[in-house]
Amino acid sequence: MDALTYLKKLGFKTNEQTKLAKNINEVIEYWKYWTENKKILDYDVDGTVIKVNSFEEQTRLGNTARSPRWAIAFKFPAEQAITKVKDIIFQVGSTGVITPVAIFEPVFLEGSTVQRASLHNFDYIKERDIRINDYVKIEKAGGIIPQVVTVLTEKRTGNEIKINEPQSCPVCGGKVGKLNPSEVAIRCLNPLCKAKLKRNLEVWVSRDAMNIQGLGPKLIDRIVEAKLIEKVSDLYKLDHFKLATLGHGVGPKMISKILQQIENSKQRGLDKVLYAIGIPNVGKKIAKDLAQKFKSIDNLMNAEYDELIAIEGIGEDIAQQIYDFFRNDRVKEVIDELKKYGIKLEIENTNSSNGIFNGMMICATGELERMPRSQLKEIIENNGGIFKDNVTKKLDLLVVGKNAGSKFEKAKKYGIPILTEEEFFSKYKI
Ligand SMILES: [Zn+2]
Repeated sequence: MDALTYLKKLGFKTNEQTKLAKNINEVIEYWKYWTENKKILDYDVDGTVIKVNSFEEQTRLGNTARSPRWAIAFKFPAEQAITKVKDIIFQVGSTGVITPVAIFEPVFLEGSTVQRASLHNFDYIKERDIRINDYVKIEKAGGIIPQVVTVLTEKRTGNEIKINEPQSCPVCGGKVGKLNPSEVAIRCLNPLCKAKLKRNLEVWVSRDAMNIQGLGPKLIDRIVEAKLIEKVSDLYKLDHFKLATLGHGVGPKMISKILQQIENSKQRGLDKVLYAIGIPNVGKKIAKDLAQKFKSIDNLMNAEYDELIAIEGIGEDIAQQIYDFFRNDRVKEVIDELKKYGIKLEIENTNSSNGIFNGMMICATGELERMPRSQLKEIIENNGGIFKDNVTKKLDLLVVGKNAGSKFEKAKKYGIPILTEEEFFSKYKI
């Protein structure tokens, strides 16, 4: 309390409603007061926080892994309302997860009109036996998100309708199921479902994928909303005229820059395309391994399950997902278009055996100024080197950035060659 008073005296903004309580009864008193009077505040609150006043006692109490032992939230009871479930609809999220959503007869609760609530998943509906036309008690979790608390079964009339899991995706009509058996959520399994388009595009343009700068999430949203793109390959169909229709904030200069970036991205190579295209559970590492092994998209598309599972790090599930992915008609269509637009879909054989870092084990430490570590790693690997995360006696070279610490010391101890970032780039001319 003294600290707060002092901060206030110095001119900091502190909360006006702070109060020093002498005992637990005063704490409860204070909490009761705000339970009844929270509406007089000009911001939303869902409870009070009680803290031990003495710094010394705070230190003695210490912390658990998750929270301090000397402070705790004392929440207000949630306000509840009763309403009728008019409908239960299915929403498909950007990852393909299908979420059932209850649509209510509008009801006023804690400062706003509530018309819908997520029912999360089908287990949730089953456990609570929520049906269309049911009357339900709702409240706002954390004072914000509407939730169904219970079904008022005594109000049932026999006109209630049970809801079943959808047998196909409500957006694309594709197959639905679980990505792995432990998952509760049901997803649309069509990797190129339109519901996933924005997310797919965000991955496609990201730095580790096709690295198309200037196409941020907001612009992607606008492009998709304007229906300029219906699948990722349509990116390569964009032109000045189409982008200019977006209007506000998208001028000729910006358009030229984006189109140039899109053009440049055609040369990124097979491993980038395989990461960008969104094969379930295929990240950068597996994408790279697949590219190295199959060399071209055609080889990979024709690969049998046995060939896929033979690759280190690819288990049964992922092998099956890769196999299924390339047998999806929409995927085939997109890849045909990528070919048509001239996107590079193979790798040269030379990369891994003829680079300037041939077989060298290289590690980097400290803050790099030229480029992020991930990019340096890529350059080293593309030139035949092996990028290491740790310093061992076998290391051939350590690149040091600013404020290097223990790795630098260790390398010195082992007598490993060390170059500063500047020296490294000027020596290897990359
Ligand atoms: Zn779908």
